[in-house]
Amino acid sequence: STNSFKDSGIKGTLILALVENIQETDENIRLILSNIKNLDKIKYHICSDVKLINIIVGIQSCSSKHPCPYCETNNLENVDTFTEDRTLGSIRHSASAYKSAGSNKKVAQHYTNCINQPLLTGDDHERILDICAPPELHLLQGIVKHVYDNMYKNWPHVSLWLDKINVKPTNYHHGSFVGNDCLRMLKNVDILQQMAESDDKHIIQKYVHILRCFYDVVKSCFGMTLDPQYDTYINQFKYAYKDMDITITPKVHILLMHVPDFITKHNRSLGWYSEQTLESVH
Ligand SMILES: [Zn+2]
Repeated sequence: STNSFKDSGIKGTLILALVENIQETDENIRLILSNIKNLDKIKYHICSDVKLINIIVGIQSCSSKHPCPYCETNNLENVDTFTEDRTLGSIRHSASAYKSAGSNKKVAQHYTNCINQPLLTGDDHERILDICAPPELHLLQGIVKHVYDNMYKNWPHVSLWLDKINVKPTNYHHGSFVGNDCLRMLKNVDILQQMAESDDKHIIQKYVHILRCFYDVVKSCFGMTLDPQYDTYINQFKYAYKDMDITITPKVHILLMHVPDFITKHNRSLGWYSEQTLESVH
């Protein structure tokens, strides 16, 4: 539709199947996907949470030694060197070797944590990044929550900021924030800064800075419009992040190491590949 060129554009969703009351386990997801026929006959991108991407491609969870669905890194803290990309072929090969060795989960890390054959059709050389789009909504939620949780450890009063801007953590997903609340937090960093200053909490300044840098990233390449400067903003976010003493999560890793690659290839912002539409990111 013509709306799709606006930030507020509504994307059409055509539901092919609905499954109720089942757990999002490896077995269940594999069962559902393997029953969708002819997936290889159409051009598609997988839109889902990182957790689900890992299941679909056949690797262990985000807490494993090689947690990234897009590359074989075993060190998330290193955001300066790229590790080998995961491809359908690399996972198929490692999963076969893992199986031949007896499918012992204790040694899965020796097989870059590939424990199942990918549920995706395609040639061996195809990269996971070219099939499974980085999920903007979950990157937004995961990164905002991680920064917020670290801020909370230093300054529990930060919850008053949430009250002031009318944001409530949701009960499911261990107190995370819905996407639009994450945006509201990013849009109201000035209020956070004022509150921290009047409370003499100088340590919060670096969180204020990182949230501003992250908001610049979100405005430049999340949603439906792409700012050609997105690469600069991602780099600024990277330097600000490295300057802080907080861990690089798989989602931060994906943003820093794989989102620029994905966007360069498609020359489109992440919203085009998202299953949900956020309200205006600006
Ligand atoms: Zn990676």
